[in-house]
Amino acid sequence: MLGLMQKWPLLCHKILDHAKTQHPHREIVSRSVEGPIVRTTYADIHLRARKVAQKLQRDGFKPGDRIATLAWNSARHMECWYGIMGMGGVYHTLNPRLFPDQIAWIMNHAEDRLLFTDLTFLPLVEKLAPLVPSLKRIVVLTDAAHLPQMSLPGVVAYEDWISEADGDFTWLDMSEDDAAGMCYTSGTTGDPKGVLYSHRSNVLHAMIAVMPDSMGLSVRDTILPVVPMFHANAWGLAQSAPMIGAKLVMPGPKMDGASIYELLDTEKVTFSAAVPTVWLMLLQYLEETGKKLPYLKKVVIGGAACPRAVIEKFERNYEVDVIHAWGMTEMSPLGTLCTLKPEHDGLDDETRLDVRQKQGFTPFGVEMKIADDNERELPWDGKTFGRLKVRGPAVASSYYGGAGSEQFDAEGWFDTGDVAHIDEQGYMQVTDRSKDVIKSGGEWISTIELENLAVGHPDVQEAAVIGVHHEKWDERPLLVVVRKPDRTVEKADVLGFMTGKVAKWWMPDDVVFVEEIPHTATGKILKTALRKQFEDYRLP
Ligand code: ADP
Repeated sequence: MLGLMQKWPLLCHKILDHAKTQHPHREIVSRSVEGPIVRTTYADIHLRARKVAQKLQRDGFKPGDRIATLAWNSARHMECWYGIMGMGGVYHTLNPRLFPDQIAWIMNHAEDRLLFTDLTFLPLVEKLAPLVPSLKRIVVLTDAAHLPQMSLPGVVAYEDWISEADGDFTWLDMSEDDAAGMCYTSGTTGDPKGVLYSHRSNVLHAMIAVMPDSMGLSVRDTILPVVPMFHANAWGLAQSAPMIGAKLVMPGPKMDGASIYELLDTEKVTFSAAVPTVWLMLLQYLEETGKKLPYLKKVVIGGAACPRAVIEKFERNYEVDVIHAWGMTEMSPLGTLCTLKPEHDGLDDETRLDVRQKQGFTPFGVEMKIADDNERELPWDGKTFGRLKVRGPAVASSYYGGAGSEQFDAEGWFDTGDVAHIDEQGYMQVTDRSKDVIKSGGEWISTIELENLAVGHPDVQEAAVIGVHHEKWDERPLLVVVRKPDRTVEKADVLGFMTGKVAKWWMPDDVVFVEEIPHTATGKILKTALRKQFEDYRLP
């Protein structure tokens, strides 16, 4: 028997309709690429997104077309997303930190037809455009006065381009299963792989993200997504914020400590989200200037393991709650978030920090399990680690074009490529990427745990652990360290600091000091490059 309820498709542009109806005057504040702070509202964005949709249609773009964006977080970027989705198109965010050849490869694979971009990226776009034959038009998110002379054909200033439309546009009728957005994983191993979000997955993900024990957001919040829209959808915030009508503050191109602090302070931001590196820069700025954070209540930190010291400093020195979160482009991206359960009431500070440092538990809408190499499910005992697998309505069912099919099984589980353990309370902790974990005499050693420990040393700026060949044990850990400026810390100091805090057989066999550790385009340690750098290294 079927239920007798309305079929109300979960479509992304309905989120913006709702924001315009209930919260028309709520502000979206952007630091523009041109310089000044620009203020708009949900009512403005709603109108301008319809202009984008209308103009795309008039220019001959069709439902299903992939429309790329290479842009910072701004109100204009958001208008483009909603306009693209509202005419049936697919927004395709490009990460400007990738190599130009890699971006061109991704654009060709997706067959992007139009590109919205910021002034910042024009030199890059000049290199890309000739390499992408499918590209018909380039719309620069600025006005005619700021648009420089360009030799490229098909370039137009955004404000001119949308001024030709009046916004009298009805969103296209579509299915909630239609594609809405696209994002490629950075491809540190092999070619990048495209994740194709649907309207339904985006709307459900936005609802999952705002729930009290997820990000816990409300109309009373002022939200600063430092995490870029090109990094896994700004973790859903460009959809979650209008869904609840919260004020948004968009950082544009500036993500250094001073610039972020300025926005946090002047706009009275209550909630923000970013990768650990951004927070390290902000904390350093606060320590140097002695400034405080009177308005900020909560930050979500994810994308890479969050150092314990960051959680501790936010809590103790600034009374800011830290939610450590884990996710992936393939998961829209939220997978787990670390808020506390009643079971944790009354814990002493150190034990509570132990919990907060985990990546947390799944909200409704994400299922997870850990399995060994023979697909046997492993217990949730907080110790046994295995391959982490997930499924849910906002998790990819395959990659665009069919790559990577071995990561999806018949029961719908997606192999995340992460290695983790899960405790009795359901809290997951990532111990490694499966390709980074060190296999010493058949037993696994977690490189992340060793790195977290090493960066706890006051003179260590950054640490990475890789496995190096060993005659007897097959692989043993090598610790690579970047010292803080002007510090002289030596091998014996670091190892002394770590001794007693991990199992003896986990201790690195050697420590080497370097000027710099290579990173991926999303700021993660690039272990493939590091392993290459040390491939001829012999343990003492
Ligand atoms: P990219 O490599 O393009 O940044 P993703 O953002 O999808 O791709 O990266 C997802 C991966 O990042 C996860 O599989 C995991 O390895 C890592 N990751 C994300 N959040 C965390 C976290 N809180 N702690 C440890 N690792 C994390």
